[in-house]
Amino acid sequence: MYEMFDVTIIGGGTTGLYTSFYSGMRGLKTKVIEYHQGLGGKVAFFYPEKKIYDVGGFLGVRGEDLVTDVENQALSVQPAIITGEQIRTIDKQEDGTFILTTADGEQHFSKTVIVASGMGTFEMEPLQVKGSAKYEGRSIHYTIQNVNQYAGKKVAVISQSRVGIDWSLALEKVAEEVHLINCGEEFKAVYEQDVETLEQSTVHVHKNQQVEALKGEGQVLTGVTLQDGTELDVEHILVYEGLNIEKSLYASWGLETEKGRIPVGTDMCTSIDGMFAAGDAAIYPSKTMLIASGFSEAMTAVNSAAMHINPKAKAQVYSTVIYKHAKD
Ligand SMILES: Cc1cc2nc3c(=O)[nH]c(=O)nc-3n(C[C@H](O)[C@H](O)[C@H](O)COP(=O)(O)OP(=O)(O)OC[C@H]3O[C@@H](n4cnc5c(N)ncnc54)[C@H](O)[C@@H]3O)c2cc1C
Repeated sequence: MYEMFDVTIIGGGTTGLYTSFYSGMRGLKTKVIEYHQGLGGKVAFFYPEKKIYDVGGFLGVRGEDLVTDVENQALSVQPAIITGEQIRTIDKQEDGTFILTTADGEQHFSKTVIVASGMGTFEMEPLQVKGSAKYEGRSIHYTIQNVNQYAGKKVAVISQSRVGIDWSLALEKVAEEVHLINCGEEFKAVYEQDVETLEQSTVHVHKNQQVEALKGEGQVLTGVTLQDGTELDVEHILVYEGLNIEKSLYASWGLETEKGRIPVGTDMCTSIDGMFAAGDAAIYPSKTMLIASGFSEAMTAVNSAAMHINPKAKAQVYSTVIYKHAKD
């Protein structure tokens, strides 16, 4: 016996979680399906320790704390949340409802779908240095969970991007020594301010360098050798050398796509009636790829989904005090 949901949200990043809260608050039966085991998307993965300054209402909030707050807000309306499942196919039925099928063949049934899956599922590009496998997990890491585990340690960050700068600056606060190893001359996709902050920090930046060899005792890393022969005594390495992003799914779901993302109208409607998009997944003129934009788009997408299910539903909600427990 299948269970039909009003709204199924693909992706449990900040946008998907907030979408689930807003959908639940509007009295819609809501489900979230997330590929990773953990929730929080890019914020949880790339910069849980970074302070975020551009979300309204916060003078500055750690990524991890923001994810916890958004998750708790979502849980307050009790959506069904499924993690560790990737949506592979979406089939629209003759009655206008959708069947979403996961990589494991599990089927989910929904009247509407909100795509909040960013640029698609992603995996980290692994470090390509001989012998790295034995240090993976213990000394080589691909995300910066719990910065305090690096307190008093010597750490190398391997990255050419803003993620590496963010990690290095977060580590600088607790680690004894931080080395940022960039294979190029410049950093990619950075703001001038990021580079200025890095230059004013105690982080040792090694440009045009790669790790040539790893040194260790058993499974414990003790150091690395760079291309120019420099030896660094480091106990941990954090690697961000890009992502393997699976982009092709949106087109395979029958959606129109633009640069791997989903063009939407001002109501967050996609090219398929009953499917909406929000957050980094959505694209429209002057779009900003920011957390707060995702929150705003989430509200619009849910309002559109509510009206798709029931054309008499309110177009929008002005007062959550009045609305909180109301049904459409
Ligand atoms: C280094 C860095 C720093 C940033 N700093 C800031 C900042 O200071 N302020 C700010 O506002 N923004 C910042 N951003 C941008 C911000 O992180 C994004 O705009 C935001 O995280 C987008 O959230 P999202 O939920 O839309 O997408 P994501 O966070 O990408 O979440 C999408 C989720 O969907 C899941 N998913 C994908 N495909 C499927 C599928 N088929 N089935 C199931 N699940 C799926 C993914 O696993 C992922 O968890 C930064 C980005 C980066 C990379």
